[in-house]
Amino acid sequence: MELVTLRDLLPRAKKERYAVGAFNFNGYEDAAGILAGAEEARSPVIMMASQGACQYIGVYEAAGLVQGMAKRAKVPVCLHLDHATDYDLIKEAVKAGFSSVMVDASAKPYEDNIRESAAIVRFARDYNCSVEAELGKVGGKEEHIVVEDRSATFTDPAEVPRYVEETGIDALAIAFGSVHGFYKSEPKLDFERLAAILKLTDCPLVLHGGTGIPIADIQRCITMGLAKVNVGTELKAAFANTIRKMCAEVSPDEFDPRKFLKPVKAVCAAIVKEKLTAFGSAGKA
Ligand SMILES: [Zn+2]
Repeated sequence: MELVTLRDLLPRAKKERYAVGAFNFNGYEDAAGILAGAEEARSPVIMMASQGACQYIGVYEAAGLVQGMAKRAKVPVCLHLDHATDYDLIKEAVKAGFSSVMVDASAKPYEDNIRESAAIVRFARDYNCSVEAELGKVGGKEEHIVVEDRSATFTDPAEVPRYVEETGIDALAIAFGSVHGFYKSEPKLDFERLAAILKLTDCPLVLHGGTGIPIADIQRCITMGLAKVNVGTELKAAFANTIRKMCAEVSPDEFDPRKFLKPVKAVCAAIVKEKLTAFGSAGKA
């Protein structure tokens, strides 16, 4: 199958009140695990490479890997560039065949955020590539992007309609209490803010920092109309912990890298299947 875009996935998810899971990968093993988990759940899936992952793997290499996987996939696969601030890298990813990108100009003033995100939308249109952008600042640490928890600002609902209209984006990441990475204290989502934003726009909304939010809170957001949930940290931790475990378990005489790496696939697949089931997208492929 060809890769699909957020336009192919999110409007339907919003209408039917489920969310499509978006999962970060950093190499072959977790990528294969994400797809396997989605196939087990018979769910569409969004596979995400962050800007850092693209710099590590290579943009063309990441695109080639996931395009190859999607060829024989039993479920729709979207390849999405997560949180990119480097516009040259975004354009390279679009040309390389990513079917979706996120431009993150959320640290910029409102007018600049609109103008720069709109420029990426215009560029991506010619390649049938969808675009997500962010308004407000999701706190925590996402590799190169660091937002002080205290200065993290929530999305102002009043700014949303003009932002969506003038940028032409396909999905909007909003800040309403989630943070990237592991939570230092119990996360508190601002459901009233989410409701207010949902009332003001038809644009599918995205929850970032899905790791560590109680699943009931995420499900409440999805029931309200949230259409995409990002999960990164949980898979990263699972990848690292599995390697640690295998290094301790596998015989010191063993030199086949696959003996250490293969279990990562099943561990990631199990997490992804569980998330997609919780998000209500199981069986929607
Ligand atoms: Zn994020």
